[in-house]
Amino acid sequence: MDTFSKAERSRIMSLVRSTGTGPEMKVRDAIRLLGYRCRVHVRNLAGTPDLVFTKQRKIIFVHGCFWHAHHCQGGRKPKANAAYWNAKLARNVARDKRDVRKLRTFGWRVLVIWECQTKDVDRLGVRLLRFLGK
Ligand SMILES: [Zn+2]
Repeated sequence: MDTFSKAERSRIMSLVRSTGTGPEMKVRDAIRLLGYRCRVHVRNLAGTPDLVFTKQRKIIFVHGCFWHAHHCQGGRKPKANAAYWNAKLARNVARDKRDVRKLRTFGWRVLVIWECQTKDVDRLGVRLLRFLGK
């Protein structure tokens, strides 16, 4: 039996999506395997960054291609309700930009890894090493 209203259910699904998503877990696994340590979902920083390397003052966001409107296959907007999706995704993109700008102002180095860039694990590892260094 479905005891949730439509709105409640969609809120719950968005929580499920926002924590421990596939691409993010891939990045977290890679980071652990490479021997780095980080904090996750740090709420007191702009945009609640997915991965925060406090000592190195570095931050990684793992963005879903759809929700953050990546210019790739996965970031294509639905044809139905185009006006709604255009507005919603444009807001997400604007917020992402604002968050990154704010973090950089405070001296953080920021890397965005897109969902579609987590498919090739070897390349992902190379990017992480290049960004995080020693
Ligand atoms: Zn993408």
